[in-house]
Amino acid sequence: MDSRGLKGAIHPRDLDSATVPEAPQKDASATLAERLVAGEKRALARAITLIESDDPAGWDLVREVYPRTGNARIIGFTGPPGVGKSTLIGALTKELREAERQVAVLSIDPSSPFTRGALLGDRIRLSDHFLDPGVFIRSMASRGALGGLSEAALQVALVMDAAGKDDVMIETVGVGQAEIDIVDHADTIVLALMPGSGDSIQALKAGVMEIPDVIVVNKADHPMTDTMIREVRGVLALAHDPEGWKVPILRTEAVRGEGVSELAEQIGLHRKFIEERGLLAERRARNLRSEVLGIAASRMRRRLEESVADDPAVQDLLDQVVRRELDPATAAGRLLEEHTDAG
Ligand code: GDP
Repeated sequence: MDSRGLKGAIHPRDLDSATVPEAPQKDASATLAERLVAGEKRALARAITLIESDDPAGWDLVREVYPRTGNARIIGFTGPPGVGKSTLIGALTKELREAERQVAVLSIDPSSPFTRGALLGDRIRLSDHFLDPGVFIRSMASRGALGGLSEAALQVALVMDAAGKDDVMIETVGVGQAEIDIVDHADTIVLALMPGSGDSIQALKAGVMEIPDVIVVNKADHPMTDTMIREVRGVLALAHDPEGWKVPILRTEAVRGEGVSELAEQIGLHRKFIEERGLLAERRARNLRSEVLGIAASRMRRRLEESVADDPAVQDLLDQVVRRELDPATAAGRLLEEHTDAG
């Protein structure tokens, strides 16, 4: 469906007063896209808000700028709260800025009830970079209706990429399935641990999460660091692939910036490795496939829910299930037969 032709696809509130055009909204959309591609910070912020709030103008924008994406390195960070991810990302941002790279950070906390402001203030220790025009920082906690949070996160990564960022870092809290789904969209996945964070080792062992590309043991000033590194090495040995990328285990002390240049280097090496072997293209194809399916599935569900909402026949079907005259699977089958041709 092309919603660009729909009236009100772009709401006036979506435009900065300075850019409100005289005439049609199509120009307005082009303007936002142009400003985004020109790397304007406010345009990027606006674009993310549109995506987050599931505004059709957000999809229009992504559609428009999509051909210009694919250049940024998407780097995912995961790990339990408190291990120092934000501090690490802050230190890494400094390193990347010194190399004159444009950086965007998207921090995601699926469990957080807080709004952007609270998250930014409390959790992201990136305040050194707030005034740097080459750094863009944003938090996201809401799910949005587009699909899951991971679909929304990828859309946001796309607009950050379109805005000319060289590195897009996506940070998630925790090592649960939702977090893994999100970092799965990344080209390179960094797992941050700290001495004593045994839960994550368990998650790795149990295969809850795939083996990341780079493992960082932060807070290396802690006396248990060597033990932790040994444990991680033990888990990696189980999954060792002699042909594949050798996952480095790095020690960092993020607060002092120790080990951060090695982290930047390993991220670069990983990227080079997957690029040279065609694995980057493969990984991206897989991620985009799951993105497309994710969005399609959630739209289909919404469509189905809408089409059955006020249907007395459906109510009758459900009543039969409640009376144990019809089992749930048979009822679902009938529902699909009658409602999936709705468009
Ligand atoms: P996140 O929840 O994983 O993002 O963790 P934060 O970056 O917010 O860090 C949690 C706490 O650990 C903060 O008080 C940091 O100052 C502290 N921290 C971060 N890195 C280190 C480190 O290398 N050594 C020590 N001792 N503390 C650190």
